[in-house]
Parts: sequence; C-alpha cells; structure tokens
Amino acid sequence: MIRNVKRYEDMSQIGHLHLMLDDDGDVIISVAEQGLDGLIEYTTNIEFCTIGQGGGGSMRTYQALRNLMVAMHEDNQDRNNQGRAFHDRDACPKCGCNDSNSTGNMVEVPDHYEVWNCNDCGWIVGMIDNSPYHNCWDFKNYEIEI
Ligand SMILES: [Zn+2]
Repeated sequence: MIRNVKRYEDMSQIGHLHLMLDDDGDVIISVAEQGLDGLIEYTTNIEFCTIGQGGGGSMRTYQALRNLMVAMHEDNQDRNNQGRAFHDRDACPKCGCNDSNSTGNMVEVPDHYEVWNCNDCGWIVGMIDNSPYHNCWDFKNYEIEI
C-alpha cells in the first residue's frame, strides 16, 4: 500500500504534490515547494477522510485520490519518466520506493522508540530512539547506527 508519495510539477524544479495516507486511511494532500536550502515549505495541507470521524462526504474524490497515489508512485518508478520523479531523503535508498510505514511509539511515554520501514523491501529508513529523527541517508551504507 502506498502511504507517502511525492511528484514534481511540470512548471518548476521545486514545486511538488505530496499525498500521504494516515493510519486512519485518510488522504492528506500538500502542495509544497522545496527551496535551494533544502527546506520544504507547505503552502496547503488539506485532508479527505474515510467514512466516520467526519469523513465520507466525498467518496468518489477520496477514491480518486487513492488512485492518484498509485499513479504518482508508478510514475516515480517508471525508468523512462524520471524527469519529474521525486526521490528525496524520504525515499528508500535500496529500492527507491517513496512509501514507508511507522511502527508508532513502541515504548511508554515519555520514552520514544519508533522505526520507519520501507513498504516494498522493509529497509529501515528512519528511527527515533529517544532522539531526534534519524534518516538512513545520513549513515554509511544507509544503515542507521545510534
Ligand atoms: Zn525499499
């Protein structure tokens, strides 16, 4: 399942669409720009929700957004269509997948131990161990060592 996907727009090298699927199955849509300093600025962040919890009012739109996530993922994976592919530090360095899944906090608060795995190959792409978020791209061979 695709949980997190980004794709650059056609009109710039920084503007991109970012779709996320949260644990409730809600789709979060962000339109963002990534500046030369690497910082991402979100200009919009809205959500279409599943039935219950206030959602279900736009089920065709919701389903289309789920389908759009698949389409964006397939475009990013298409070797002949890499001009707008968004392979950033959120992507798995082993398989290029933009999808990751969090374990959630696995210990009692105030401690925090959480791991993010690639959805396709299971690679550990991120970790919090009573620490700031660690990204596997910052480590040798992309293996997180804390
Ligand atoms: Zn992977």
